[in-house]
Amino acid sequence: MSAKTIGIIGGGQLGRMLAMAAARLNFRTVILEPQTDCPAAQVANEQIAGAYDDPAALAELARRCDVVTYEFENVPVSAAEALASQIPVYPPPKALEMAQDRLTEKRFINSCGIPTARFHAVDSQADLEKALADFGEQGVLKTRRLGYDGKGQRVYRSAADSAEGGYATLGNVPLILESFVSFEREISIIAARGVDGAVACYDPAENIHRNGILHTSTLPASISEETANAAREAAGKILTALGYVGVIGIEFFALADGSLIANEMAPRVHNSGHWTEAACVISQFEQHIRAVAGLPLGKPERHSDCVMTNLIGDDIKALPEWLRRDDTLVHLYGKTEARPGRKMGHVTQLLR
Ligand code: AMP
Repeated sequence: MSAKTIGIIGGGQLGRMLAMAAARLNFRTVILEPQTDCPAAQVANEQIAGAYDDPAALAELARRCDVVTYEFENVPVSAAEALASQIPVYPPPKALEMAQDRLTEKRFINSCGIPTARFHAVDSQADLEKALADFGEQGVLKTRRLGYDGKGQRVYRSAADSAEGGYATLGNVPLILESFVSFEREISIIAARGVDGAVACYDPAENIHRNGILHTSTLPASISEETANAAREAAGKILTALGYVGVIGIEFFALADGSLIANEMAPRVHNSGHWTEAACVISQFEQHIRAVAGLPLGKPERHSDCVMTNLIGDDIKALPEWLRRDDTLVHLYGKTEARPGRKMGHVTQLLR
């Protein structure tokens, strides 16, 4: 196998874990990220310190690499397309386009025959009032673009909430109002598609969020095998429709009747898939590297039950206790300053 070079756009912890998985398979990695000494560059072969949409930096990335991937979904589509005209870019730029805007994303997911919450585009106060009236004054208002970890969202539970604030409270940007989903639990599936079209799905994880940020992912999820298969089937449809190559993370709401409603998709490795590095032979990171490098996908089988816990901000203070456990894999991201809400690392405890 000849050593190839993989470009990774984005220098965060996901890029770091991709670079580590790549190194084990003899691939070199080049990180494109403006911030130097970022989590990914600490473990990669090279860094190009430039903006994600800087034409010169992108041209340099294309020159140094055989294939380019990314670790976050807000890579400018134009930059990904420009690169794709020179070298393979996986996942395909179309996946970025579909995932960057919640309205486009929901329409796309529905076009695959997968249900989502009902939704209305909201571009004014009048739109918001009309949409809330349609949903019985309840719903979740979200920015269409650039929302993450629960940021750029507002929940309406009754007419009293509507009186308090409206369209302008989220910054006069294009919004979407989603109907409020009374879910029983939140699950996600990590799936991959290879260059040859093969699809591999890990077991769905059950996710608990705190303050809008993922707190734990637990395996197995408390769902039926039928519901798990419905998640796998939905992932297969999305991957195939996009002609996808790489790993994707798809989040769902599971309802009391066992049915699933898709919430969102991330065209990259996903926080709710970190458990795979401890409880599967092939982690989501290696799976992604295998896919984008054109290698056969690994089996996504899980050998242990487990719970992954994010270490956010001051959670890192519990590190000595985690390190004393002999059932727990600790993974740190190389960040020196523990700011509130900042993901510092994660731990995966095997439950045996
Ligand atoms: P998101 O940024 O879309 O992942 O939303 C963050 C969190 O808000 C989700 O994990 C849910 O807990 C909650 N949420 C989002 N959309 C809805 C919805 N339509 N109905 C009920 N809860 C929601």
